[in-house]
Amino acid sequence: MPPPEEATPEELERCPFCVGREDRTPPETLRIGDPWRVRVVPNLYPAFDRQEVVVHSPDHVRCFADLGDTQIASLAEAWQHRIDAAAADGFGYVHALINEGRLAGSSLPHSHSQLVVLDRVPPPVAAEDRSALDELLRHDDLRVLERNGAVAVIHYAGASPYESLVLGGTLADLLGALRDLVGRVRKAEGPFAWNAWLHATDPQHLHFVPRLTALAGVELGAGLYVNVVPPERAAEALRG
Ligand SMILES: [Zn+2]
Ligand SMILES: [Zn+2]
Repeated sequence: MPPPEEATPEELERCPFCVGREDRTPPETLRIGDPWRVRVVPNLYPAFDRQEVVVHSPDHVRCFADLGDTQIASLAEAWQHRIDAAAADGFGYVHALINEGRLAGSSLPHSHSQLVVLDRVPPPVAAEDRSALDELLRHDDLRVLERNGAVAVIHYAGASPYESLVLGGTLADLLGALRDLVGRVRKAEGPFAWNAWLHATDPQHLHFVPRLTALAGVELGAGLYVNVVPPERAAEALRG
């Protein structure tokens, strides 16, 4: 079931992330702007030693695609600030991620991201093949959009429709390109759930995985993924 397009009155009434409800979250670890544009608070139900929630807007914005440039810049500033703080405290890595929509594991519809602070670089991040990233940039036919220095490219071996990487530019450029990418997929498919995460390696980049199809026995059991939208056609659909 796709996420609903409009917030219900109950959702608006209960949202702990909206401006004026700051007392419903633990005391913040960072605030960007005065009055605040983005704030960072400890996760109420942490699965790790340090896990933080970044609230993307004082207003009840439900889709990342609807954040303005100032909000995106403030979000990048917040992520960078908390990533630097974790490094200063001796942690080895911060896994920054966005889950949007219930199907993607998000329990609160107000746009937010999470920062999971880890002792070391997780194995899949350390094992990632850098040459595959370079290879991706050579695929002109898979490019969807460019924003300042950042490029969004459909993954040539993506397991799900529109799976993409965003590479190049500053963190704000990457997040801005992701915002535009989410907007393009929404335009093509309607409201949808998705996950994205930062790989804070060299070069830093974002992974974007729309949750348009459900994983079933073939995928889970045999590791065989059938992508119903071939990469070239996905790129073409989003470029248009
Ligand atoms: Zn809200
Ligand atoms: Zn990566």
